[in-house]
Amino acid sequence: MATVELKNIRKAWATAMAVDGLDLTISDGEFVAILGPSGCGKSTTLFMLSGVYLPTSGDILFDGSRVNDVEARHRNVGIVFQSYALYPHMSALQNIMFPLRFQKVPDAETRAREMADLVQVGELLDRRPSELSGGQQQRIALARALVKRPNLLLLDEPLSNLDATLRLTMRAEIRRITHELGVTTILVTHDQLEATTMADRVICMNAGRIEQEGSAEDLYLRPRTLFVAGFIGSPPINLIEGKRPELKLSGIPVQSGLEDSVTIGIRPEMLKAADHGLPATVSYVEPMGRETLTTVDTVIGPLRMLEAVAVPRWRRDEQILLNFDAEDSMVFDTSGKRIDGANVRLLEIPGA
Ligand code: ADP
Ligand code: MG
Repeated sequence: MATVELKNIRKAWATAMAVDGLDLTISDGEFVAILGPSGCGKSTTLFMLSGVYLPTSGDILFDGSRVNDVEARHRNVGIVFQSYALYPHMSALQNIMFPLRFQKVPDAETRAREMADLVQVGELLDRRPSELSGGQQQRIALARALVKRPNLLLLDEPLSNLDATLRLTMRAEIRRITHELGVTTILVTHDQLEATTMADRVICMNAGRIEQEGSAEDLYLRPRTLFVAGFIGSPPINLIEGKRPELKLSGIPVQSGLEDSVTIGIRPEMLKAADHGLPATVSYVEPMGRETLTTVDTVIGPLRMLEAVAVPRWRRDEQILLNFDAEDSMVFDTSGKRIDGANVRLLEIPGA
């Protein structure tokens, strides 16, 4: 178990700056998720932590000691890849024992069997990977990553190849196992739900940099940038560009000259049908179980409204009026930064 620090880490490829100045401290035993779109530098960051890639600049510290020059096999880091990467010609037991092959561990097999029990594959140890389901292979890969009792567990999109039900089970399982072992864990994912349900803290990354870090709630309710507001939340936030005569902005410094070029964000569940407000024509209705998503056309563009009803309230082409509370809106400047304290309200529209 270890405290992990990244200090101004950069990784430049010939074609791209994959990681561009990452500063991050992870406490002993913490479970952190690095969340971001494909290509933002998540895997590159993991490979630098594991010792496969050298950073172009910056320092990596485990428990306060610099490990930049420590070879991968001496860092004692366990990794689970998206593809599991099990050895096809070996049994499950041999796969789990593989990381111990160069170590003089007298009880290697006992340890492997204990780990197999922890991840609940104790009955499957004679099988080859081809005789195991995706979920079972995932558990074997997890046992193999943990058998050396690593300082740090790295999980690179570990659930992407599983079907939806199994993904739910494995989310909870991975949490149970890492909690039981108390191992410091970094999960890398592009899936916001995976990050927010599993991690104590979510690091939202974009183009090689950290956009924002915090709890799931921080990122959802208090995004500091347009990127975070747009990336977190499903269905996604409504974004309205520029100043509109129907909307009254407030809280924007008068001298800033920002009024005309802002982007306004309103989450779909914050829009409500009302007896006065913005005229809207229903264009699409999507029942989603407990909730219904309704897409409408308005003078400020198409908007998504999410209502906590199982039975749709509206029909296609129906005319409704929409409203929202000013405090539920967000305003972003041209650089994508949220303007603190700024919000927007709907002006009364004559004749509506
Ligand atoms: P993610 O895991 O977030 O999808 P990656 O860390 O794999 O992103 O990649 C970040 C960027 O670095 C991408 O632009 C990718 O094309 C580039 N990259 C990753 N690995 C290499 C490599 N071995 N050689 C050159 N470019 C790479
Ligand atoms: Mg990746």
